[in-house]
Amino acid sequence: MDDCLFCKIVAGGIPARVVAEGEQWLAFEDVDPKAPVHVLVVPRRHLADIGELGSDPSSAAAVVAGIAEVASRLELTAYRTVLNTGAGAGQSVFHVHAHVLSGRDLGWPPG
Ligand code: AMP
Repeated sequence: MDDCLFCKIVAGGIPARVVAEGEQWLAFEDVDPKAPVHVLVVPRRHLADIGELGSDPSSAAAVVAGIAEVASRLELTAYRTVLNTGAGAGQSVFHVHAHVLSGRDLGWPPG
């Protein structure tokens, strides 16, 4: 997708602080962190949201593997994984991504 921010990051056209990567996924630091650790895990393939991700089991498994790899690499013992879906829920980039948040108390239920 030519006009997709995260496709450009995946392609290397926009710089990002890469934390880890796999054949089908990329993990990089969020540019506006909401916690001391705030990493985004995206499939390399352009899929708009979790609905589209759900129709691509290979990419879905890759994103979950990416989350686990980030947690392992950063030695996270407690973290939250969030996938915002739809503008009303806070999704602003329509290339599906999992937020991995850690390093502070994470209240429950979330706001
Ligand atoms: P969401 O609002 O759930 O769609 O999350 C999008 C996230 O992308 C936000 O947390 C932004 O801070 C983050 N973001 C936007 N632009 C960039 C960028 N160039 N590099 C890294 N993260 C970004």
